[in-house]
Amino acid sequence: MAGKLLRIGVLALQGDFAEHIAMLRRLGVEAVEVRLAEQLDGLDGLIMPGGESTTFGKLASDFGLIEPLRKFGLQKPIWGTCAGAIFLSKDAHRDQPLLKLMDITVERNAFGRQVASFEVDLDVPALKAVSDDDVPFHAIFIRAPLIDSVGEGVQVLARLEDGRIVAAQQGHWLATSFHPELTGDPRFHQYFLRLTSAQK
Ligand code: GLN
Repeated sequence: MAGKLLRIGVLALQGDFAEHIAMLRRLGVEAVEVRLAEQLDGLDGLIMPGGESTTFGKLASDFGLIEPLRKFGLQKPIWGTCAGAIFLSKDAHRDQPLLKLMDITVERNAFGRQVASFEVDLDVPALKAVSDDDVPFHAIFIRAPLIDSVGEGVQVLARLEDGRIVAAQQGHWLATSFHPELTGDPRFHQYFLRLTSAQK
């Protein structure tokens, strides 16, 4: 597939980076754990996993990773899932370190506490670009954020039935409130790889 020659990093400070790596390898892509700035060298794209965005922010600040990640993201595709989407955003309505790249604002823990985690089938028309499988995407939300507003130039990829935004794209940046790495469905990963191939 198109992603074959790609080298994709997964931010591995904390969270469910192993699941992203497993999915990337399943798709035949070289996947690398990223904890240090120099590990960004030679990558075609980066995934930031689910976890705890305040922990990402603290560790990335301690390890001098904030600016290297920002610089990387200005050139190359980044996809954030859940906490990763928060970390990618411009504004999380609180004072915490963020990359401030993608023009979205997010509301953390918008669905309440851990017990409020849920699963839902989403219609994601953009995924038709990578698969003829016209079935809904089964999305897992775990203490998930909502994307409560998007700037100009941000495309909404998926909404809940009530209209609230849970996936968006701005050029080579992708944000999902939910966790495609926790389902067997590779379409979101394929979508990100397609984006990354297009930039390479
Ligand atoms: N609640 C976490 C945060 O605010 C995100 C949870 C997740 O990544 N599953 O960072």
